[in-house]
Amino acid sequence: MAEETLFSKIVRREIPADIVFQDHLVTAFRDIAPQAPTHILIVPNHVIPTINDVKASDEAALGRMFTVAAKLAEEMGIADDGFRLIVNTNEHAGQEVFHVHMHLLGGKPLGPMLS
Ligand code: IMP
Repeated sequence: MAEETLFSKIVRREIPADIVFQDHLVTAFRDIAPQAPTHILIVPNHVIPTINDVKASDEAALGRMFTVAAKLAEEMGIADDGFRLIVNTNEHAGQEVFHVHMHLLGGKPLGPMLS
C-alpha cells in the first residue's frame, strides 16, 4: 500500500499547509485552490488511496472525518446556511490526489451538485 502521498507529507508537517485541525486519526487543512469561501480538505492520517480501498479497520478515521466536518462547519459559521461534503473517487470523479480526502465547501450558495 502506498504510504507516501502529498497529503501524508502535510499530515506529518513536512510540507507547508494551513492546518485547521489535527488529532491521531485525521487532519484538516485549507485547500490550496479554494472553490468556495470556505474550502477545507479532511484526510485520514494514514493513506487510503481511494474509497474503493476502504476496509473495516478504516472506520474510525472515516467516521472522525464527518465529526470533524461538522465541528469545523460550526466553527467557521457555515453550518446553518449549509455546506457540501465531496469525496471524489478515480478518473470519472476527477480524483487528483490518491489519499482519500473529504472536501468541505461552504460560505456561498453552491448551486446544483452535478454539472
Ligand atoms: P481531488 O480532485 O478531489 O483529488 O482534490 C484534490 C484537491 O487537493 C484539489 O482541490 C487541490 O486544490 C488540492 N490540493 C492539491 N495540492 C494541495 C496542497 O498542497 N495543499 C492543499 N490542497 C492541495
